Amino acid sequence: MINLTGGRPGGPWEPPYSKGMPAPAELVRDFVNTLDVECGTDELACPEELALWLRERGLAGPLDRATDADLATALALREGLRAALRTHHDQPLPVLPLRLVVDPLPRLVPVESGIPGALAAIAAAVADASWDRLKVCAEITCQWAFIDVSKNRSRSWCSMRVCGNRTKTRAYRARKQGSRRLQASNTDTV
Ligand SMILES: [Zn+2]
Repeated sequence: MINLTGGRPGGPWEPPYSKGMPAPAELVRDFVNTLDVECGTDELACPEELALWLRERGLAGPLDRATDADLATALALREGLRAALRTHHDQPLPVLPLRLVVDPLPRLVPVESGIPGALAAIAAAVADASWDRLKVCAEITCQWAFIDVSKNRSRSWCSMRVCGNRTKTRAYRARKQGSRRLQASNTDTV
């Protein structure tokens, strides 16, 4: 087991937001982090878990039930967001029931209730001003989403102490043992 001390602020699970709806950047970050790439654990392993996750964040009602199709949409949205955070380029997202309203500022709002509307609300959150501060960890075995609050937005890793050092140690080893394939050391995650 990898020591995550100092990394992944808040750990893989953070309690539901206490004051109504979560801030858009936090919502996107936590949605992306429902899949822990490193541990292989998924909070959205079935439609019931998806409905629960959305309900706990005030996005879905107590009677909303998620279908297999909703879960497929959610997973496509999640990996689309992760890819977008990784590359900082716009990626096509699944078709979601969103509409642009101007009241007085333009913003995207879900046009459906239930699970599709809740997923649309997460997609709409990427239009928030703090979108460019959302990143995924540059360490390929980690890919934890985080909000870069550094002044010059230069943070690469979820944690310098864990993933930053991991990346640098690997680069050092690769240089030192030039004959060894980089691919082999990539599996060494400790
Ligand atoms: Zn990381």
